[in-house]
Amino acid sequence: MRDETPLWLFGDQLGRHFHATPENRGREVLLIESEAALARRPFHRQKLHLVLSAMRHLAGELGDRATLVRARTYREGLARFGRPVVVHEPGSHAAERLVAGLIEEGRVEAELPTPGFIRSRRDFAAWADGRGRLVMEDFYRDQRRRFAILVEPDGDPVGGRWNLDRDNREPPPHRAVLGVPRAYRPREDEVDRGVRDDLDRLLRTGRIGPVGVDGPRLFAATHDEARRALRRFLTTRLASFGPHQDAMLAGDWTMSHALLSAPLNLGLLDPLAVVREAETCLRSGEAPLNSVEGFVRQILGWREWIWHLYWYLGPSYLGRNALDARTPLPDWWRRLDPSRVSARCLRTALAGVRDRAYAHHIQRLMVLGNFALQRGFAPRALTEWFATAFVDGHPWVMPANVIGMSQYADGGVAATKPYAAGGAYINAMSDYCRDCRYDPRIRLGPDACPFTAGYWAWLDRNATRLAGNRRMSRPLSGLRRLADREAVVEQEEHRRRY
Ligand SMILES: Cc1cc2nc3c(=O)[nH]c(=O)nc-3n(C[C@H](O)[C@H](O)[C@H](O)COP(=O)(O)OP(=O)(O)OC[C@H]3O[C@@H](n4cnc5c(N)ncnc54)[C@H](O)[C@@H]3O)c2cc1C
Ligand code: SF4
Repeated sequence: MRDETPLWLFGDQLGRHFHATPENRGREVLLIESEAALARRPFHRQKLHLVLSAMRHLAGELGDRATLVRARTYREGLARFGRPVVVHEPGSHAAERLVAGLIEEGRVEAELPTPGFIRSRRDFAAWADGRGRLVMEDFYRDQRRRFAILVEPDGDPVGGRWNLDRDNREPPPHRAVLGVPRAYRPREDEVDRGVRDDLDRLLRTGRIGPVGVDGPRLFAATHDEARRALRRFLTTRLASFGPHQDAMLAGDWTMSHALLSAPLNLGLLDPLAVVREAETCLRSGEAPLNSVEGFVRQILGWREWIWHLYWYLGPSYLGRNALDARTPLPDWWRRLDPSRVSARCLRTALAGVRDRAYAHHIQRLMVLGNFALQRGFAPRALTEWFATAFVDGHPWVMPANVIGMSQYADGGVAATKPYAAGGAYINAMSDYCRDCRYDPRIRLGPDACPFTAGYWAWLDRNATRLAGNRRMSRPLSGLRRLADREAVVEQEEHRRRY
């Protein structure tokens, strides 16, 4: 007999691969807008907007099949709904604890596997158990073979190489913008207007305290919008995605990036379908292998990897602090206020977060993350900041990206060496330095670049901790040869303006 227990969908489970599968098609759908979840942290205003807009749009699309309950908490919402439900595996340890409690109380009948990710948690654990070291590249190749993506019938990679990163590190062109077709932009409707009014009211009455500015919704909130965003990306922007993946231009906030993390993380797009569609662009000649492989690597590799590390490494991973970083996040950083920042790279990235709740990957890793690493920001507080200030921030996506990749606070689980770099790297990969008040070549004096000088000061502070890492031996020997080492360290200790 068909199971018709209603399906409770969290706000990150909104796509057809959740609610329109053969198993779920007959079920009523419950959506709960929990005011406590909105108010719990200082989320970016545009992130709150996107999540509410996506939930309300889905409720509207499903019509009589869906019940949207507005409640103080999830528990209260379920009690008001009054019937047991089933739910898919949620996206955080906290939500998993909540669901476990609700199962014990009989309010949730069963937890179903999540279709939001390509590989199941059990499969990942079977792959990872017993490995000496967890390496993303090994996992990614296994994913390619297992799901037959970009592999020949004999199991070899299409084009003969698994990894085309070497072809994908071009600096930006000498232009103000990359010059690729514009990314998809949704059009707001009456649902968005309702969301905006409700958020204004919650703000006026002090029930939420968001960061960032309000602005037109920039990211897809419905299945149809997400499909259009994906098609636009694949047909007009994927071809240039590969070569300029790591490049930055002050006047181009999107570059060739997909802007798909928000709809993917809301569960609006099935990740395996996205990867398969990207693969067809290679066959049709719409995009070259280096771009297609680069994009497939992001979704089939990195996104899955980060999700699985979240569960595999468990909640204690969040407490890791291998470099003993304890600096509290400055107020201007928390409030997304770039007005006091002169460093052009940092000012541009922070302004992007304030205005759009978005910065592209290399800004997150090599500008914001790199700065936080050099200045010793407390990793847990930084994780919280990334999770709340970004439109695509969700609990599962933060630990391996922030604690691991960007802050090296796990001592080398997620990355083999810290992603720390001075101004020379930023200068090579962007046009920021050209009009900056600082000089990337200078490490001492009023024009000293905070990234260049900050890099050496950071290395000095962590020299003993990093001494065992073979990949750090060259930078450490560079530090030993630095004639003005002490002066640079002292300067950075007293630096208050960036
Ligand atoms: C410090 C730091 C914080 C980050 N915070 C987030 C976050 O809150 N949410 C988030 O989804 N991603 C996060 N990322 C990963 C990555 O930066 C974003 O996914 C990407 O910038 C989103 O923009 P896009 O859709 O234009 O991505 P593109 O550059 O076009 O990449 C395509 C897709 O690949 C996926 N992807 C690529 N790398 C990662 C990764 N490391 N982790 C997860 N997915 C990945 C995303 O779904 C993305 O949409 C973070 C990375 C770092 C270094
Ligand atoms: S000079 Fe330094 S601070 Fe200025 S943009 Fe370049 S890297 Fe950033």
